[in-house]
Amino acid sequence: MEKVRIQDDLFTHVNQEALDKLVIPDDKPTAGGFQVLADDVEKLMIGEFNAMSKSKAYPNVYLENACKLFKVIKNVKKREKDGITPALKNVAILNKVTDMKSFSKHYKTLKLKRIPLPFIISVDTDMKDSKKHCVAIQGPSVILPDASYYKPERAQQKDMILGVWTNVAKAILAKTDLSPEDQELFLADTIKFDAILANLVKTREEWSEYVKAYNPMKSTKVASMVKPVNFKKILKDLFGFLPETVIVAEPRYFKAFKEVFNEENFEIYKRWAYVNAIINSCSYLTEELRDLGSVYYRTIAGIKANTPLEKYAYQIASGMYSEPVGLYYGEKYFGEEAKKDITEIVYQIIDTYKSRIQNNDILEQATKDKAILKLSTMGVKMGYPDKVRKIYDLLVFNEKKSLFDIMLTLNQVRVLDSLAKLNEPTDPTKWQMPGHMVNACYDPSVNDITFPAAILQPPFYSLKQSRSENLGGIGAVIGHEISHAFDSNGAKCDEHGNINNWWTKGDEKRFKTKVNAMVKQFDGIELPWGKVNGKFIVSENMADNGGMAVTLEIMSKTPNASYVEYFTNWAKVWCVKAKPEYQQLLLSIDVHGPNILRTNMPPRNFPEWYETFNVKKTDKMYLAPNKRIVIW
Ligand SMILES: [Zn+2]
Repeated sequence: MEKVRIQDDLFTHVNQEALDKLVIPDDKPTAGGFQVLADDVEKLMIGEFNAMSKSKAYPNVYLENACKLFKVIKNVKKREKDGITPALKNVAILNKVTDMKSFSKHYKTLKLKRIPLPFIISVDTDMKDSKKHCVAIQGPSVILPDASYYKPERAQQKDMILGVWTNVAKAILAKTDLSPEDQELFLADTIKFDAILANLVKTREEWSEYVKAYNPMKSTKVASMVKPVNFKKILKDLFGFLPETVIVAEPRYFKAFKEVFNEENFEIYKRWAYVNAIINSCSYLTEELRDLGSVYYRTIAGIKANTPLEKYAYQIASGMYSEPVGLYYGEKYFGEEAKKDITEIVYQIIDTYKSRIQNNDILEQATKDKAILKLSTMGVKMGYPDKVRKIYDLLVFNEKKSLFDIMLTLNQVRVLDSLAKLNEPTDPTKWQMPGHMVNACYDPSVNDITFPAAILQPPFYSLKQSRSENLGGIGAVIGHEISHAFDSNGAKCDEHGNINNWWTKGDEKRFKTKVNAMVKQFDGIELPWGKVNGKFIVSENMADNGGMAVTLEIMSKTPNASYVEYFTNWAKVWCVKAKPEYQQLLLSIDVHGPNILRTNMPPRNFPEWYETFNVKKTDKMYLAPNKRIVIW
């Protein structure tokens, strides 16, 4: 087979050999790229967990608890003996919920028992004053991967997926103590209630404009919207007092709340809650139920087999004790030398952004000054946190209990801790991601970036790779994350992470023109598994563009820079092979574009791409100069 030319398709040219060799494991939707690193970390840490458990030499009490949980999950015999009973006992609380009054009375208990609720109350960072917490309220999520599946044009897809769900739910309900008639009724009502919700809750595209989720209202006003639910009582039960203000994340849903949750729909809600509670419990019950519970997601993501027991046990245990596990991983596998080197790259990128912003043509001078202030005060979290938060001291459990009850107890500790935070200041030292996670993020509410140790590995980063390779890998990803400080969401938050319109109308207008151009670059591109929604993924595409612009400028000042190495490694980090079902699912739920586009689209906007590979008009990765966009 003839090799694909780099000028036509950078992604395939660089990754073809790797892709040919990659086999997607039965229990995963993808292979390659991030997944390789994630699998390696997982394997390594499973080895660590087993060694610790065997020697009983735990580095600290948190790892000891994590290993104990790991062991409890692996104890299939005990789980078989406990059966479905713990979940049925838990959901029996619904029998006490007979009307609006008793619903209000039991709201807190229902929440602690993880019974799905018609509205979810949580404690969040106050987006207008990020040093403080606030009460936030939102609607539930739907059965389908996204509410947008309910749109008429997706009817066929919806029916197919709902069909899969129905079969799975049927099989699970057959294991409960419901009569066959009730099983039918509960299923039908669950689907009915879900369809009502789907019309009103936000789609992922709507959630992606997160500033729009900030709608402060007097709690008395919200109380009148959710009547006859006794909202004031619920708030008092949760917080011990009546908070004055509530942030309503989904105004459309709450405006129509009385159509969703009322006397007439009450029993329908309860059946919906019962069915979803039981399905959500499956992960912590018998192996048969754990398997059944995974079929729905696996089918829509194209995953053949369920996660093997040991991996699964590790995933749950390391997720529950994520900070201590991440700290252990970071301290052991991520060196000080690498931390120093990578921090240097970060500040080089921040400084380059400062000069680029000074010279850019979108923002006015006063706004540029504020943008530069935002960069100067940006927090940088590299590797792993230096301490574990207090909550981990509270995450203890009785090993003799059923896994289901243990998970419920641990979850309750987390929920109560989060509710108790309402009157405490926010903690800027809290990490959004643990050290062993292969990912990175920008947190607009704190104005900081987080790069866990696990992503600071080849091909993203290595002390052994050339500077050009590191810039095309982790450098561009760092530049990507930082640019989120200035995307459509970041532009609405100031250097403290507070919602504060620091852009002028003119800034916004010029920025919008660029946003629209970027939407156009991607919108409607046909891939074998579906069409791209340019608007949905625009923020991430802008970020990729920014990451490339800033690192290419650093390249121009780097001695012995190799653009071939830069672009090659850029393509390597995005190498992935995925099941078509999964690709299709991502088009609807992932704000990031497909990897082949993330690789091939950004370079076409920069002269270095054309110069390095002599790209001509007749090549597929050519873009006319007047269509090229550079944002930052
Ligand atoms: Zn991003």
